[in-house]
Amino acid sequence: MSRKPIIAGNWKMNLVRSEAEKVFEGVKEFVNDYTAQQLPTIVIAPVFTSISAVRTVKCNCGCGGNKISIAGQNCHWEKSGAYTGEISVEMLADAGCDYVIIGHSERRQYFAETDEMINKKAKAILAGGLIPIICCGETLEQREAGITDKWISGQIKAALEGISSEDVAKSVIAYEPIWAIGTGKTCDSDEANRVIAMIRSVVKEVAGAEAADAIRILYGGSVKPSTIAEQMSKSDIDGALVGGASLKAESFNEIIANTMKVACNV
Ligand code: PGA
Repeated sequence: MSRKPIIAGNWKMNLVRSEAEKVFEGVKEFVNDYTAQQLPTIVIAPVFTSISAVRTVKCNCGCGGNKISIAGQNCHWEKSGAYTGEISVEMLADAGCDYVIIGHSERRQYFAETDEMINKKAKAILAGGLIPIICCGETLEQREAGITDKWISGQIKAALEGISSEDVAKSVIAYEPIWAIGTGKTCDSDEANRVIAMIRSVVKEVAGAEAADAIRILYGGSVKPSTIAEQMSKSDIDGALVGGASLKAESFNEIIANTMKVACNV
């Protein structure tokens, strides 16, 4: 089966509204020259306070706007209530999001998110009609200790626990080795492809062959315009979750353009 590639930009805690509008505008201008069929699925995850600003840019003047989807960078699994500082899936959908990033290593590390919380979030996102982008990845110590595959497969099994095969098929996974995030050090593309193929086999084990074939699994960790073509040429890498290089329209657009050279129907 051919899976449509995804290029997702994770802006993390960067860009105030005016800056966010400018970057979004720059990406929109680029995508205007292509049809939706020619482009990968493009997703941008701004900070919560910039979602409505980029949505306005997205919806202004029709052209191009429907070619870029918006993602939340996190959510809570409850629908509403006394959870100060949190945001629900319904609120993200209402603000214009189609995707939600969950389980990013920064949230696991700095905000003590557990596999169990990530599983609850994934279920809430799917129940709310949005698509989770579920992150996983090993530390350098785990890699050096030779437990990468065991660790990642545990994260994936826990995240997908109790989710129907149909919902798993719609979901997105991002493999992001923690030692490659924001360090400029990308994981060797053959090794990233090997881990991603291993993740696909875990998905097959828990949700069946069809879901494993359909689910899109991205690589993340210092993705740059100069690395993406080789990454996208690999059998199991379906796209990228991009941090630093998504903060400027020029580099994000170059990543999209280089993806299209190897993986879309331009
Ligand atoms: P990076 O971040 O591209 O800056 O390494 C990737 C991510 O954390 O999603």
